Amino acid sequence: MSSLLLPTESRLDERDGRYLRQAISLADRARERGNRPFGAVIVAADGTLIAEAWNANGETGDCTAHAELSAIRIASPSHARDQLAGATLYSSSEPCVMCAGAIFWSAIGRVVYGIDAVRLRAFRGERLDQKDVELSCRDVFAASSHPIECIGPALVDEAAASHAGAWK
Ligand SMILES: [Zn+2]
Repeated sequence: MSSLLLPTESRLDERDGRYLRQAISLADRARERGNRPFGAVIVAADGTLIAEAWNANGETGDCTAHAELSAIRIASPSHARDQLAGATLYSSSEPCVMCAGAIFWSAIGRVVYGIDAVRLRAFRGERLDQKDVELSCRDVFAASSHPIECIGPALVDEAAASHAGAWK
């Protein structure tokens, strides 16, 4: 893979870095429990942690049990759209097309992610059941009727470490 094709890494401030590391630690917890290594947290504008979740594919057998989607399912029923519009979803990796759609529906206004989908494909390998839809979350967000700020990739080395040896 040519480094010229890899997305440029974003720098994060202290707060964004802290919450993204929390999402990455949840990815490691997911892996320990027999799931794909993905984690996500949702943080309100005032810094309150609204939701945290990890990928639970292995534990539940549910192919939609992605970390971001599960975190949104925790946050959405108890928070108004205008509260979620001020919130940030931190994900250990770039949201897939399903989770990007859920972010749109939730009205969450900001996303910060770790490893990008392009770098992650090196870990996923060639198995068809491990491949993702090659549509970037930014393309989904760009089609949104409300603005969704998107920052990433960031902390790539730390986010990638969760995936080393995790995919066969
Ligand atoms: Zn997803």
